[in-house]
Amino acid sequence: MEPDLQKRNRVDEFCEELARRCDELQRQGLWRELRRVDSEQSCRIIIGGKPCINFSSNDYLGLASHPLLKEAAIKAVEKYGAGSGASRLICGSLAPHHLLEEQIAQFKGVEAALSFSSGYLTAIGAICSIVGKDDIVLLDRLAHSCLIDAAKLSGATLKVFRHNDINHLESILKRLQNHEGSKTSKRKILIITESVFSMDGDVAPLKEIVELKEKYGGWLMVDEAHATGLFGKNRAGIISACGLNDSVEVQMGTLGKAIGSAGGFICGRKMLIDYLINRARSFIFTTAPSPAVSAAAAEGIRIIASDEGAVRLGMLRNLIDQFKNSSIGERFLLIKVESAIFPIILGTNELATGVAGHLINNGYFIPAIRFPTVPKNSARLRITVTANHAPEDIRSLTLALESAFNQFNLVR
Ligand SMILES: *Cc1c(COP(=O)(O)O)cnc(C)c1O
Repeated sequence: MEPDLQKRNRVDEFCEELARRCDELQRQGLWRELRRVDSEQSCRIIIGGKPCINFSSNDYLGLASHPLLKEAAIKAVEKYGAGSGASRLICGSLAPHHLLEEQIAQFKGVEAALSFSSGYLTAIGAICSIVGKDDIVLLDRLAHSCLIDAAKLSGATLKVFRHNDINHLESILKRLQNHEGSKTSKRKILIITESVFSMDGDVAPLKEIVELKEKYGGWLMVDEAHATGLFGKNRAGIISACGLNDSVEVQMGTLGKAIGSAGGFICGRKMLIDYLINRARSFIFTTAPSPAVSAAAAEGIRIIASDEGAVRLGMLRNLIDQFKNSSIGERFLLIKVESAIFPIILGTNELATGVAGHLINNGYFIPAIRFPTVPKNSARLRITVTANHAPEDIRSLTLALESAFNQFNLVR
């Protein structure tokens, strides 16, 4: 009896420590809770039994609940099973994974692609295998947390440049060149940015960054998580739209946003993919994705590249313009937004969660985004518009936001 009692007490102590940490989060307005959704993922969802119009999904083209993606997943389960049984390098490299990777490469207009279980694991696997403790990573200040975590985990020296600030990036590259002299030639430099930023919706100056890395001799990795499906010819993203396919060493994307499924990928030269198959630990030491997930992603890409993709993006672009030109768009200077992501920066956590709570009570689901997802004191509402919304949804959203901001005495 005695040891058991002791064990329970240890667990109690452990939980008391965790409770203290959670209290601290709560005190700072940073407490987070899961909200159970009892409907399929779309622009209308049921949360806690309550129907809401959803303005928070990354399912930009409305493919997550598309009948053809569902059908592709079901067929893959029937033919290949529910699970993949092992990692890709053992016996889990199923036909749907290979078909997906061939399709990604063709869609993006590059030699080859490799899929991962998530975008997060894609960043970890790619960055940690490409740079190490003797190298340098230059990261945009507003880059996604998975890019920050991967850069830290790689052990490389991490330097952060001001958001989309070419001059700051160049000054860091210059300083590295001067200070390190010949040493730099051995230390590899990897510049990492996003093409569309996940929490701000703005676009990186990719051409200028490419010019800099050519001039100073660095490598460039670009995460197209929020650009794939929305920009460029065949909607393949901003890199190909800018004609930079052969200038970006490492292209990254995710399969869970516009593509409507789940997972992540790297694409580019065949040499890069062969290297990652051998070195990317988050690819090697994990069970291959379910064939259903990969087959649905392949179908998502097929639709995006087809005429239906063009029609869906056209509908989305109309809704984006409608919101940009609304009273809210003018009030919060959303006119410069180029993507489907609208940040309304409110500042404090309390204000952001207060406004978000008010909106959800009124049937609009737009969660507050807080630190560490965004920098401190820039808590915000992050509104995303999708092709499945109706113009009437945008009109009523505008009214709901006006009324919420008035309620909270927010004048601009
Ligand atoms: C969502 C996101 C990721 C992570 O992708 P997951 O598949 O959700 O793990 C990576 N980078 C950016 C910019 C993202 O927005």
